[in-house]
Amino acid sequence: MSEPLEEKKQQLLNILRMEGIHDENVLAAIGAVKREKFIPDYLRQQAYENAALPIESGQTISQPYIVAYMTQELKVDNKMKVLEVGTGSGYQGAVLSRLCRRLFTVERHLPLMQRAEALFKELGLLNITTLFGDGMKGWPEQAPFDRIMVTAAADKVPEKLLEQLKEDGGIMVIPIGAQEETQHIYRITRQGDDFETEVLLPVKFVPLLGGIVHDS
Ligand code: SAH
Repeated sequence: MSEPLEEKKQQLLNILRMEGIHDENVLAAIGAVKREKFIPDYLRQQAYENAALPIESGQTISQPYIVAYMTQELKVDNKMKVLEVGTGSGYQGAVLSRLCRRLFTVERHLPLMQRAEALFKELGLLNITTLFGDGMKGWPEQAPFDRIMVTAAADKVPEKLLEQLKEDGGIMVIPIGAQEETQHIYRITRQGDDFETEVLLPVKFVPLLGGIVHDS
């Protein structure tokens, strides 16, 4: 018989702690979001495995460790306005929304965006605003952002996103690297025209692509 999902969630939180996730606010946010809501039904029993899983439109919901790690390294607080590029299932967005003041999230696949929007509404996550569009362009009308998280890998950091980062201490976390190469999470901290770059963890993300897709 399979264990109840709540028990599996507690085990996952223990694993995240052992792997170095120490920010209690991040752990609490992960603990509060039901990952099973964001994945296809047939994968329900795997909702709290520390693994990436397939979602619609050939995309993936990231591994919980990576969600926790990127969230922790973004250093979000409840006064901040945050941009997420790559809504996907909406899971990372739901976690971020519990830690920031307002979350703006952009997705280029229409069916993914529609499903995520419905979930945010169902879960009462009222501080999330969605956009069906090309996140490589950012969201100029809402800029500047205190924090930007990109959840798809780019060859290089999109210029438009750098421009939309808050000048004094804005932080962006983004996977960088081509699909066939090892990608790394970069953390970029802005001070005026100066962008300090730190190379963090090796990762594997789906590509950041331009344009929009009306697939079904
Ligand atoms: N944060 C998501 C991860 C989804 S995978 C989650 O928690 O489930 C990355 C997502 O980025 C995919 O849905 C993909 O369609 C999207 N994406 C890729 N390039 C994009 C772009 N230029 N603008 C917006 N979304 C993009």
